[in-house]
Amino acid sequence: MTTDFQALRNQMVDRQIAGRGVRDRRVLEAMRAVPREAFVPEGLAEFAYDDSPLPIAEEQTISQPYVVALMAEALEIEPGDKVLEIGAGSGYAAAVLSRLGGEVYAVERHESLAREAGERLARLGYTNVQVLHGDGTLGWAEHAPYDAIVVAAGGPEVPQALLDQLAMGGRLVIPIGSDPRSQDLVRVRRGTDGDVREELGPVRFVPLIGAQGWDAEGGPAR
Ligand code: SAH
Repeated sequence: MTTDFQALRNQMVDRQIAGRGVRDRRVLEAMRAVPREAFVPEGLAEFAYDDSPLPIAEEQTISQPYVVALMAEALEIEPGDKVLEIGAGSGYAAAVLSRLGGEVYAVERHESLAREAGERLARLGYTNVQVLHGDGTLGWAEHAPYDAIVVAAGGPEVPQALLDQLAMGGRLVIPIGSDPRSQDLVRVRRGTDGDVREELGPVRFVPLIGAQGWDAEGGPAR
């Protein structure tokens, strides 16, 4: 029997995403389009539309679909926007973001994940996404400034490098917490009168490890 992934995907969007209050039509369409089963490890495809994160290589996770949609909505991405994602992981969220904006630049600290995400995105036809292996707490200065920056791992504070690479009017969404494994989702909006910071609710992400994040043991890097 073959699995009808499109039917599972539509059900996921209706129940887990629209059903929980995500309203942005373009975000819902993107979530209906990206085949999450192609981003999870072989053998876990049948769980691709479960309401949860799933393990990927290097002890990392592909985020819960609802959380990907919630962050995408909070980023208020317009067609043509330049988007930076820190923590590419499987490449799933980058694929969703690439359907909302113009160009997506994604940074991943694990070399094997970065390589595989880049290959997977190319194979699936996401030609407007580039994946870099590196420390995303330093951003990706070459393509700055960005209209939207999203961090898919939790840090102790907002990395200054990411603030420096945010365009006027840009939005930065990042999980921030004093505990490396539990955070509040924070949105920073850059305006002419300065930055406005909002808290969007509690979340649980893997730690952001890098020069402006946690050190590899989960302590402050500085
Ligand atoms: N967006 C991903 C979720 C990945 S989980 C997806 O859709 O699959 C978070 C990822 O952040 C992990 O792969 C982890 O290795 C990565 N990460 C943690 N700290 C990082 C850093 N400083 N720079 C880049 N990636 C980082």
